[in-house]
Amino acid sequence: MSTGNVEKAILAEMGKPQSGLIDRVTRHNQIFLHNFTQSVERSCECQLMGCTQSFDLTLIPNQVLYPKYCEEHRSEYRRSNFMRQIAAQPEIYRFDTVKVISEPAPPYFAARFSDPA
Ligand SMILES: [Zn+2]
Repeated sequence: MSTGNVEKAILAEMGKPQSGLIDRVTRHNQIFLHNFTQSVERSCECQLMGCTQSFDLTLIPNQVLYPKYCEEHRSEYRRSNFMRQIAAQPEIYRFDTVKVISEPAPPYFAARFSDPA
């Protein structure tokens, strides 16, 4: 999946506050820095909001890029499907229905408190 050149580019970009490359690769992957010299199995939790599924990762020497979703959610279609199901549950807080219920204090209000008279 990834070559040594990709790893080198990622490591070089890691020090920058903003990186298009990092943004791009971390959309579907996670960067896992390690210095294992042989393959190691690690359990990892799916990073899809609402999914608590964990999955096994095999950390490979000199590789820092790994999947960030469980096997079930590796495809964009399955992830959006999962999000739709979550949003359809009545007890789930819906961000799209939030409204601002109080306006910021008007300027005269602030002036009244600072006015010595
Ligand atoms: Zn998942």
